[in-house]
Amino acid sequence: MIVTIDGPAGSGKSTAARGLAKRLGFDFLDTGAMYRVVALCCLERGIAATDEQAASEATRSIDMQVRDGCTFMNDHDVTAVIRSPEVTESASVVAGIAGVRDELVNWQRRAVGAKNIVTEGRDQGTVVFPEAKCKFFLTAAPEERARRRQQDLERTGVIVDFDEMLRLIHERDER
Ligand code: C5P
Repeated sequence: MIVTIDGPAGSGKSTAARGLAKRLGFDFLDTGAMYRVVALCCLERGIAATDEQAASEATRSIDMQVRDGCTFMNDHDVTAVIRSPEVTESASVVAGIAGVRDELVNWQRRAVGAKNIVTEGRDQGTVVFPEAKCKFFLTAAPEERARRRQQDLERTGVIVDFDEMLRLIHERDER
């Protein structure tokens, strides 16, 4: 059975999806982590996040694995580094590239197969798994979402101004 949780950045999708998966004994798929891995790969290879062809090729070349709550890029554990503000910004830009999306959507469908899973993202219930039995859409006020993002970053030792965080949330919503 597939359960999808969609919604914008900072709406609480990950927390809800993780909690639900644990409670149901289902697997959990964090699709945002994949866009973050592509962004990290582009940053490392000096590829502009707006370069459609190079970013799509880079996506195809990555050996991406998500297991036990950790994310791996070509066998390197990148769980922490993909949460940096730089990768966060870049992920939102590469996510606008059709070639990147096609590749990751196929990856997600392959990874889920016949599993019992809770999957979260922006497109899981609409585009990736439209046949899912149970679909949720979560949202929250931009101020609340900015406050949560700020707290998440503070936990990793990164201090960001609230107004700047709110500006970035609006910018990402637009994209
Ligand atoms: O949810 P998270 O902040 O980790 O997602 C990182 C970026 O990946 C988001 O800004 C969004 O643009 C993109 N994304 C997406 N589709 C998904 C998951 C994430 O476009 N299914």
